[in-house]
Amino acid sequence: MIPGSFSYHRPASVADAVKLLSDLGDDARPLAGGHSLVPMMKLRLATPAHLVDLHGIAALKGIRRDGNNLVIGAMTTQHELLASDDIAQSVPILHEAVLLIADPQVRYRGTIGGNVANGDPGNDMPALMMTLGATYRLEGAGGARDVAAADFYQGAYFTALEPGEILTSVSVPVPAVGHGYAYEKLKRKVGDYATAAAAVVLTLSGGKVATCSIGLTNVHETPLLATDAAKAVIGTSLDAATLKKAAAAAEAIMAPAADARGPVEYRKHVGGIMVTRALQRAAAKAK
Ligand SMILES: Cc1cc2nc3c(=O)[nH]c(=O)nc-3n(C[C@H](O)[C@H](O)[C@H](O)COP(=O)(O)OP(=O)(O)OC[C@H]3O[C@@H](n4cnc5c(N)ncnc54)[C@H](O)[C@@H]3O)c2cc1C
Repeated sequence: MIPGSFSYHRPASVADAVKLLSDLGDDARPLAGGHSLVPMMKLRLATPAHLVDLHGIAALKGIRRDGNNLVIGAMTTQHELLASDDIAQSVPILHEAVLLIADPQVRYRGTIGGNVANGDPGNDMPALMMTLGATYRLEGAGGARDVAAADFYQGAYFTALEPGEILTSVSVPVPAVGHGYAYEKLKRKVGDYATAAAAVVLTLSGGKVATCSIGLTNVHETPLLATDAAKAVIGTSLDAATLKKAAAAAEAIMAPAADARGPVEYRKHVGGIMVTRALQRAAAKAK
């Protein structure tokens, strides 16, 4: 319950935050919503000597359009994502998935940047961002670079973020008009991380699947893209045999931890069920 002591910094610009993080080195951590970091600090699983609070940086806030992309500032809260009409209309799976994250109080504080940068396989946004083909903007002392969400996750709590870098925004390509979508999450109760979850975005043409992307949450040390499962459904009308094949292809790449959510075989099995349900619901929604 009691974190270790730390120094608190509140930079007013990205450049100042990056400079502080570079100067302070490994002992410093960015503080966003604090709803993953502070719980870890209270358990002393994280003991940073410096917290660099990003709340004073206006440039990290807000949701804007850039061509066919929605560019979401890293410090945009989960509550603000839910309040966005643009997100609800153009990337409805994001609205759906955010509603399944945590609880209202956590969503008032937790940010999209913190959720995707955290590196916890339990977080829901990473696999969804991979499914949507999102890109993360990272800024460090050497400038800015863009990394595809699909290339960002290297292991549990290991990401492509280099020391001194912060994630400043998430760029989400708006899916095609009439696309189908679903985020299916099995959890023990409200506010729990997924036992297994699946994100599906697809389009139909003449009753057959034309494009499909499938992401998996919390069934591996990183979020996953189930590319073979997605390939298996393209060109089909999602008949029972195809659904079975897709679920099996997704299960084949899962390697969940055995924990209080269940043993490995159970979590893989329900992971396959999440894929099946998400595919069916997404297809029913597609126009
Ligand atoms: C009770 C409870 C239930 C929850 N349930 C869920 C759930 O079901 N699904 C889910 O996805 N999440 C869940 N969460 C986590 C919640 O969504 C967090 O808010 C989120 O994981 C982290 O976002 P944050 O803004 O709070 O980041 P913080 O906790 O401030 O930071 C998390 C980590 O990311 C780093 N970081 C933060 N922002 C940046 C940045 N811009 N650039 C670089 N590094 C950065 C920090 O240094 C830290 O290491 C839950 C949390 C709680 C307390």
